[in-house]
Amino acid sequence: MITIGRRIEVRGIVQGVGFRPWIYKLAHEGGVTGRVRNDAGGVIIDAFGSEPALEGFARTLIEAPPPAAEIADVRWRDIPPELLDTFTIASSASSEELRVSIPPDLATCSECLAEIFDPADRRYRYPFTNCTHCGPRFTIATGVPYDRAATTMTRFTMCEACQREYDDPLNRRFHAQPNACPVCGPQLTLVTRHGRVVECEDPIDGAAAAIGQGAIIAIKGLGGFHLACAATDDATVNRLRQLKRRDEKPFAVMVADLRAAERLAILTDEERALLTSAIRPIVLARPRPHSWLSQMVAPDAPLVGLMLAYTPLHHLLLRDISEPVVMTSGNVSDEPLAYRNDDAMTRLASMADYFLLHDRDIEAFCDDSVTRVIAGAPVLLRRSRGYVPRPVRILPPFAQPVLAAGALLKNTFCIGLGDCAYPGPHIGDLENVAVYDAYVAATERLTRFLRIEPRVIAHDLHPDYLSTRYALSRPEPLKIGVQHHHAHIASVMAEHALKGPVIGVAYDGSGYGTDGSAWGGEILLAHLDRFERIATLRPIRLAGGDAAIREPWRVAVALLLDAFGEVPASLGARFGGVTRQQIAAVTQLVESGSHAPAAHGAGRYFDGIAALVLGRARSAFEGQLALAWNGVADPRDTGGYPFVIDHSSKPWSIDLRLMVIAIVEDITAGLHASRIAARFHNTLVEAAALAVESAASAHGDRPVALSGGCFQNPLLAEGLIARLSPRFDVHLNRRVPPGDGGIALGQAVVAAAVAKGM
Ligand code: ZN
Ligand code: ZN
Ligand code: FE
Repeated sequence: MITIGRRIEVRGIVQGVGFRPWIYKLAHEGGVTGRVRNDAGGVIIDAFGSEPALEGFARTLIEAPPPAAEIADVRWRDIPPELLDTFTIASSASSEELRVSIPPDLATCSECLAEIFDPADRRYRYPFTNCTHCGPRFTIATGVPYDRAATTMTRFTMCEACQREYDDPLNRRFHAQPNACPVCGPQLTLVTRHGRVVECEDPIDGAAAAIGQGAIIAIKGLGGFHLACAATDDATVNRLRQLKRRDEKPFAVMVADLRAAERLAILTDEERALLTSAIRPIVLARPRPHSWLSQMVAPDAPLVGLMLAYTPLHHLLLRDISEPVVMTSGNVSDEPLAYRNDDAMTRLASMADYFLLHDRDIEAFCDDSVTRVIAGAPVLLRRSRGYVPRPVRILPPFAQPVLAAGALLKNTFCIGLGDCAYPGPHIGDLENVAVYDAYVAATERLTRFLRIEPRVIAHDLHPDYLSTRYALSRPEPLKIGVQHHHAHIASVMAEHALKGPVIGVAYDGSGYGTDGSAWGGEILLAHLDRFERIATLRPIRLAGGDAAIREPWRVAVALLLDAFGEVPASLGARFGGVTRQQIAAVTQLVESGSHAPAAHGAGRYFDGIAALVLGRARSAFEGQLALAWNGVADPRDTGGYPFVIDHSSKPWSIDLRLMVIAIVEDITAGLHASRIAARFHNTLVEAAALAVESAASAHGDRPVALSGGCFQNPLLAEGLIARLSPRFDVHLNRRVPPGDGGIALGQAVVAAAVAKGM
């Protein structure tokens, strides 16, 4: 038969997922010779053989790729045939390749899973089993290129059997850098909080038994420690809450498999796909009523955060326990995630009864990612483990390397290079030295891995953000401040390759405006390098500043004063635990304007109205009332409230005082909170939609970009998409969070565009 040649270029997630060994095997079995190599954008194969052999080869490649690979695009063309005897894997060489060589951490694959539950397998019950399709990557890498010597596995010498697998191109463990087995690899130990080793045959059995008896265990995972306990036992979950000083914020729950997840939540197909993906994020889903989950896991939250086991250790533990387990980040509130044994033993000792430790060091922390399905597709609430350090492809490409410092809350940084933006791991709220140190270390690590020297440093306009201070302390001369909401909208533009101008709806809690006031209900006409503020929500006075965010009853009082000129007597007693004197004091602050800055944040309307209607005075964590308020809304009520868009001011003012008055009438008339909540959401959708339409009348029809923390709310996001889609091209963040965790991407692209014009 005649030998022909073909060059096949495969784009997508095809590096670090066992793609090249899999191609090798495929070629070997199909009688195809040639070579495969990585390049910056994916994998390039030169294949030689008979026409039917090449056809079969290409078909399998497209139709049945390895589990963790995601093929975005395959192209081929004919090349001159070469007469070769073998198929070879070329090693990575160029610095372009090295850049992309470290993949994210991947959940245990089905083949490894079968091995750890097979009593005849040499890896039976071995908690560090992995292969080229699965296992730790980013969290164990100490340098580039990604190679065993540049991981924390370097101290373990492979036994003969493991080495054979590692060297055999036909083996699933060919060049699986963390390859290990019970003979040669890392080991587990169960210790008490005082560090005494617990004598037991199998530390996993020991830990499972302790959890069954109500213990709290600090478990070292892939990207850090979790605190784990039985999720079905009120007393234990409560104890963990008190120890973690986390009164009401929902805990994530881990289950063994999809079947166990279905027992706890009512899942859609998209949620099932997310739960079982190799990324294994936490998925926020609708809890199934009357499940055996303790009410204390997510007290009065309308959603439950679920994830499936994603390491062999988790699978073995959950099989032994056979009930759902709380898996919350191993830290005291506001501190960084613990990920080193000694540090965890110190910092978590007051909370954990036992520690399930191992000796495979975690080089860099990486928190669980959090997702929610909105408008039929995933929205990331936290982009971290499983995603990082995978780049987000963006357009236009960066002309020079950019480092964006990110925001304050839910901080991530972002590095821009070519057509790739690399968002860093979730850092947390940059409000203390420990988190700041973790932030600096993570930034410098990823910069080193990518082998770049940033030329442009992007930061928020807020002078007091620790991220801003870090940016300003960097040695690079070119620093560019980016307005918070402009960055939100630019993140959508970058993701969806929108050239601009776009009409942006940036709704969030707050961000520093160009006038120094707190913005957050903004309609912008945005280009990448500049923006115009078209409209904004009428500001609310926040009595006591941040205290009003923790105590939304203060916002409610300000809303009532703005709408009525006074707090109607019938409403004074609505907020549990708030005295008449306190209301008088807040009234005084709002009226005088001292210690009561005006803020435009859309989030404050959610907080304030929820406090008023639900009669709840306080918020135990950011967004608590907004989440509850969203949860009670009855979607069947399509009514809405009156409002005004005042076009006489610049920017236009979206004035919701008439809505506040109508809501008070509905409360007085005894209308159920579920219907008021629905009408409130409908009103916010309608007001934003009308503002967008007015902007379009003035500036022409443009694509619409939705961003900001409020778009984690499906009623707002889905409502606005449905309302605007007939006329506009509407886009939402899909690859970075709409909240402040996504802001660094926007900062990076804005700063790049500004620098280009300089
Ligand atoms: Zn595997
Ligand atoms: Zn071994
Ligand atoms: Fe924001």
